[in-house]
Amino acid sequence: MITIYDTLTRGLQEVPVDGNSVNIYCCGPTVYRDAHVGNIRTFLLADLIVRTLKLQGRQVKFIQNITDVGHMSEDFQGQDKLLQQAQVEKRDPFEIARKYEEKFHQDLAKVNILPADSYPRASETIDLMLQTIAQLISSGHAYATDLGSVYFDARSVESYGAISGNKLDALKPGHRYEYNDESDKRFHADWALWKSAGSRTEMVWDSPWGKGFPGWHIECTAMSLDLLDKRIDLHVGGIDLRFPHHENERAQSNSIIGEEAVKLWVHGEHLLFEGRKMSKSSGNVVLVQHLMERGLDPLALRLSLLENRYRSQMDLTWAGLEAANSTLKRWRINMAAWGENENRLVDLEILNAIERDLDTPRVLLRLRALEKDLSVPNEVKRATFLYADSVLGLDLHRKIDVQPLNSAQIELLQLRAQARQDKNWSESDRLRDLLSDLGVAINDGPDGQSWSWI
Ligand code: AMP
Ligand code: ZN
Repeated sequence: MITIYDTLTRGLQEVPVDGNSVNIYCCGPTVYRDAHVGNIRTFLLADLIVRTLKLQGRQVKFIQNITDVGHMSEDFQGQDKLLQQAQVEKRDPFEIARKYEEKFHQDLAKVNILPADSYPRASETIDLMLQTIAQLISSGHAYATDLGSVYFDARSVESYGAISGNKLDALKPGHRYEYNDESDKRFHADWALWKSAGSRTEMVWDSPWGKGFPGWHIECTAMSLDLLDKRIDLHVGGIDLRFPHHENERAQSNSIIGEEAVKLWVHGEHLLFEGRKMSKSSGNVVLVQHLMERGLDPLALRLSLLENRYRSQMDLTWAGLEAANSTLKRWRINMAAWGENENRLVDLEILNAIERDLDTPRVLLRLRALEKDLSVPNEVKRATFLYADSVLGLDLHRKIDVQPLNSAQIELLQLRAQARQDKNWSESDRLRDLLSDLGVAINDGPDGQSWSWI
């Protein structure tokens, strides 16, 4: 059984399983720009859950949406992010959407994130959203206005605020939500499900309430309920989506099905880069492509992210990425030296760590200990690393173009690791010289010793 922290109940919960299957929904990208490494951290969280469930032999249905309409920018103009970028690039908004959607898929593949079962686009799910909105109106949870918009009535859901702690009586008028021209709504915390087109001419559709476009939150309700057959076992997203996105989504979805629609809400903490929030204005938005331009393996990003628990804020640095890159290289060299067997060996310490709230740092600690342990046969090391890699997804079996060590050299390396562990520095120096005579250079780092050919 896997347990994961649930934002709604604020505690660890068992991942619900129906028969043998688990339904997962993860909020996808708004495709008006490249995904940065912070976004990748959140997408990796969903991948980690999917891989862990598959390791247990579960059937997983995994849906991730593509937001290509209706996500308004937070600045005072409150314009659609896609339309804004279309103006900047002087291109059609749908062209922008397809361009960044394609790049999103390429980035995910580079960091070994397994593809979802489907990636529904908001712009192609308009009919479903219209049906969902109509249902909310007829059940009294939403209302249309004379200006041609439809709003969700926040006060119609008693438990509103349960995810984020933002209760309605504490939400003051004047707080900025997604739009700034909503004089027609009845209550300041209501939000638009359908927005009248007004003067907007692009990315607008006909509806029973007039021409317009959907709000951002209704997209995830409509898609998740429809594509997962009204059973969302796990809902994943970054911590910033708790409010208002997920709070509003929960209100909508629960109002449609009359019960708690999502069984477990999982939120990943944010990623900082070199101590700062990643933002265009501070010029520190880092992309997978930037890592590759520095000669780093994109999977070094994956390893760096896995070094931290998903629930704590993390500061990524270039130095950390370089170190992860070296570790990856060392592990792949070791794996080649440990044989060619493709067997996987279940390791209970690894399994328990990953099953208890996705404790990847502990999995990695276990691998590091195993690597250094002289009493463990090489084929056991290899089989355990391969087992862990089915969740870690680091391609540890990948052959790298380095001549492997022979068995005498491997033994000397192991003896030296032991000497260092015993703080027998003279012996460790003697072994270093011996290895050097055999053409093997040793570097001592925080992760232990690594080697290269002289
Ligand atoms: P967006 O494309 O902006 O809609 O964001 C896609 C996903 O990335 C959402 O789940 C966000 O919560 C998440 N996200 C945004 N910034 C970060 C960050 N710095 N660290 C981790 N996740 C993030
Ligand atoms: Zn969403």
